[in-house]
Amino acid sequence: MKFYSTRKSSPEISFSEAIQQGLAPDGGLYVPEVFPKIDLSGIKNPSDILLPFLSGDILEDSIHDICAKALNFPTPTVKLNDSTQILELFHGPTCAFKDYGARFLAESLQQLANKDPQLKKTILVATSGDTGGAVASAFYQKSNFDVVILFPHQGVSKRQEKQLTCWGENITSYAVEGDFDTCQKMVKHKLSFEKEKYSSANSINIGRLLPQMTYYAIASLQNPGVNFIVPTGNMGNVVAAFWAKRMGFPIGKINIATNANSTISQFFESGNYQSQKTINTIANAMDVGNPSNIERLFDLYLDIKELKKTTEVLSVSDDQIKETIIQTHRDFGYIPCPHTATALYFKSKLTGNWMITATAHPAKFETVIEPLINKTLEVPNSLKKLLEKESHFKVIKEFK
Ligand SMILES: *Cc1c(COP(=O)(O)O)cnc(C)c1O
Repeated sequence: MKFYSTRKSSPEISFSEAIQQGLAPDGGLYVPEVFPKIDLSGIKNPSDILLPFLSGDILEDSIHDICAKALNFPTPTVKLNDSTQILELFHGPTCAFKDYGARFLAESLQQLANKDPQLKKTILVATSGDTGGAVASAFYQKSNFDVVILFPHQGVSKRQEKQLTCWGENITSYAVEGDFDTCQKMVKHKLSFEKEKYSSANSINIGRLLPQMTYYAIASLQNPGVNFIVPTGNMGNVVAAFWAKRMGFPIGKINIATNANSTISQFFESGNYQSQKTINTIANAMDVGNPSNIERLFDLYLDIKELKKTTEVLSVSDDQIKETIIQTHRDFGYIPCPHTATALYFKSKLTGNWMITATAHPAKFETVIEPLINKTLEVPNSLKKLLEKESHFKVIKEFK
């Protein structure tokens, strides 16, 4: 199996090469050359789904072990009513679905380093919230790797800041005097000038996207024909759902919920893709005006008419998110995070049965949720452990 760049001007490479490169040299994103049709009745584990993508790769024999070590937390479904199920992806160490991809990427790189002890990399992450914590947790104490986290100084919530700065050892955190875009520019600059030393771990990395197919695939085997609504920012998670469908898993519709950042809904309306300035919302992990994984969607659907047959998009305002959190708590005793609430709001405007992707634990967003429902949120043990640790970080203007 080879992976090619969405911009088609880079050599095709293997999975192991692609996860080390992150972005392709031509600026494109790696995608699999085919989506293999596999015997669905033989699937027991995530590794059964991923094995064909590593065929011929030096990690082919390690895929079962990688999945067993990295994807070692449950992704349960919860039934709200006859037409609504929730797919909870937040039971990993940092309580967001990003643990899934970050842990798979880290474990894959670690197993490459086991084969080649010369492999040493510094993983650079610009983060406005959940990515940095998930990547730090995934690479913590992996001796061939250092992680450098750059986050906007005073631009993340207290609990998020804690998850970014509580690690020590091989993880270093910097609060940058600037916004998320400033952090991202610093990362891109380093990545383009010091390729040998640095690597990236955001959702342009194919090693984060591939494992995310597996929870959609397995949920569809348990609920054939299932329709999903995916809360979307950079479009990594929703592209993984499209990929699972393309592999032949019994998935019906895949709808996209965004916050007030409406780049994708405007694209569906007009047929022209136009990136927009990012707006800050209470579903902050989805504050993206120019989703990088759109290139992968365009690569998958050459004709937007084809895409529109099975996909609708809705942009959801902060007020609608708040209203949904209050109603879902009142009607079902269930508390969604603000991101998950965008998909639940979308569901309320649709007929038929839907599965909602729940992307984070509500306790990560207590300052938004607690005043709405007049209740203190219970903090899961994994998060408690992190919140008890001490923070270490430096405030910087420039990254050298
Ligand atoms: C990252 C994130 C999203 C958006 O996921 P994408 O793959 O970027 O579309 C949604 N919700 C939460 C909680 C996240 O951390």
